[in-house]
Amino acid sequence: MQLLDGVLVSGHIKEQIKEEVIKWQSGGGKKPHLAAVLVGNNPASEAYVGSKVKHCEELGFDSTLLRLPADMTEADLIAEVERLNNDNNIDGILVQLPLPAHISPDSVINAIHPAKDVDGFHPISQGRMLLGQPTFLPATPYGIMLMLEYYKIDTAGMHCVVIGRSNIVGTPMTILMSRNGNPGNATVTMCHSRTKNLKDFTLNADIIVAAIGRPKYVTADMVKPGAIIIDVGINRIDDATKKSGSRLVGDVDFDNVAPLCSYITPVPKGVGLMTICGLMKNTLLAAQLRGK
Ligand code: NAD
Repeated sequence: MQLLDGVLVSGHIKEQIKEEVIKWQSGGGKKPHLAAVLVGNNPASEAYVGSKVKHCEELGFDSTLLRLPADMTEADLIAEVERLNNDNNIDGILVQLPLPAHISPDSVINAIHPAKDVDGFHPISQGRMLLGQPTFLPATPYGIMLMLEYYKIDTAGMHCVVIGRSNIVGTPMTILMSRNGNPGNATVTMCHSRTKNLKDFTLNADIIVAAIGRPKYVTADMVKPGAIIIDVGINRIDDATKKSGSRLVGDVDFDNVAPLCSYITPVPKGVGLMTICGLMKNTLLAAQLRGK
């Protein structure tokens, strides 16, 4: 079994991004500038946004963190997004999800200008992805593709089972894995909460992408020996041995699945770090496309 090491791969990609930013600036380009919008103070969202802002500093990007109250209206949030759309200094906008229940994430995402949609969630970005046109890929699937590419895993002809059909992970993952590209060219099955006998599908998978949101849901008896496991899940579970009283685990029962498979991503230090790479690459691209 080989670990698909998010620390190693993201470190390599971040070096490439840093070099590209220096080259861009020496040619007269301005620093890429990411605006992160955080509504309310959900602790997980705070941590994700904090990490994204920190990465901007590390890579030589500018960043703006907009903290907004949880009780704001949807109209006010959309007005803030429009203000960022019209701010010439800002290259990329990310609105951290989830949003408070009274705000529709679709309405807010639709308000982001597609040229600044560095999370790749806007219908225009997703539509272009579907048609195989150049676009901002959704950050997590993009990060997973970068990881497969780094390890030179040839996915052509493999059977890939994606568990989960969200707009931000599961669905785009099925599109990218089935595209005529490398990585890609896989035969893809999408499973979800209404799939019957999930194990019948996963046992036939050469690659399993688990994006479910249930701790250790994919167990060893569901995995074909030699399969490649991409664990997207981030779940907090109780752990009395930790000072904090909890720890993060994925959607895969890592301890029992890892000995069986050919490659596996750990949680943490796997896909999460690659998601940030996807976001940062999109932000640099947004700055470059917007010009000097
Ligand atoms: P989501 O809740 O939107 O989607 C979960 C999907 O799992 C649904 O499509 C549902 O049909 C499917 N599902 C639920 N129960 C199932 C079951 N019993 N059998 C089969 N399928 C089932 O979640 P999401 O936004 O796609 O995120 C999934 C997980 O990935 C979460 O743990 C989330 O925290 C994590 N995540 C991680 C990253 C990262 O960077 N690592 C990024 C985004 C999401």
